[in-house]
Amino acid sequence: MVILKNCWSEPIEVTELHEVVCRARDVCSCTVKPGLSRDNKPQSRRLPRAFRLDGKAESGPLHPSALKLPQVIEGLRVGRFTYTDAGEVTEDKE
Ligand SMILES: [Zn+2]
Repeated sequence: MVILKNCWSEPIEVTELHEVVCRARDVCSCTVKPGLSRDNKPQSRRLPRAFRLDGKAESGPLHPSALKLPQVIEGLRVGRFTYTDAGEVTEDKE
């Protein structure tokens, strides 16, 4: 797991994109809502989870795939985020 730290004072909300996080974990943790497509056929919509980091705050343990999220890659690049390795991956069942 990794722990992400927001080094800036502004809070940020990071979306855990299905294509990045769910695919890497092999578990979908998105909220799936029923909906309709443009031509009125039933089609479910996936609403990915998001986590919020207050200014200068640290996240809880995150799956390492979080480091592949575009927002996190960008944040690490500009010095907004730092992360620490929190050891072995254990899947939380929610
Ligand atoms: Zn998902």
